[in-house]
Amino acid sequence: MELVKIGVISCSGEDCFGGTVSRLATRKILERIRLGEAVTICLPLFIAGGEEERGFAQAHPTITVDGCGKWCAKRATEKLSGKVSDVVQVADIIGQKTAEGPALSTRNVTKEHMEMVDQVVEDIRIKFDRIADGYYKK
Ligand code: SF4
Repeated sequence: MELVKIGVISCSGEDCFGGTVSRLATRKILERIRLGEAVTICLPLFIAGGEEERGFAQAHPTITVDGCGKWCAKRATEKLSGKVSDVVQVADIIGQKTAEGPALSTRNVTKEHMEMVDQVVEDIRIKFDRIADGYYKK
């Protein structure tokens, strides 16, 4: 059975804490939790018109991860590529006020911040596995 590669696309989130969490959680899924099963794209390149990126959501079931209610990753993906399979909203998990706080340099990330990242990782993982299960049952 061929392994389905599932796309996980984080917003670029340089401006608020929710974006920091979005990027760290997506990175952890890609590099540790679902290594080899998850793929991603660079959102700014995608928006700038990278040809390969444009077909991404058609080629892979895709989960977007957004740091706040502006939904940049979901909106860009659906506008430029195709409908996403599921979404993760960081503000719904860590609270809107926390998500809207200032962005954080990775060297200033604390244990408490990483616990929030792990809550988001778990939400991504659950949605990721639900999509994967649906494919393998087909
Ligand atoms: S969704 Fe929010 S945190 Fe993410 S890039 Fe857009 S404005 Fe920034």
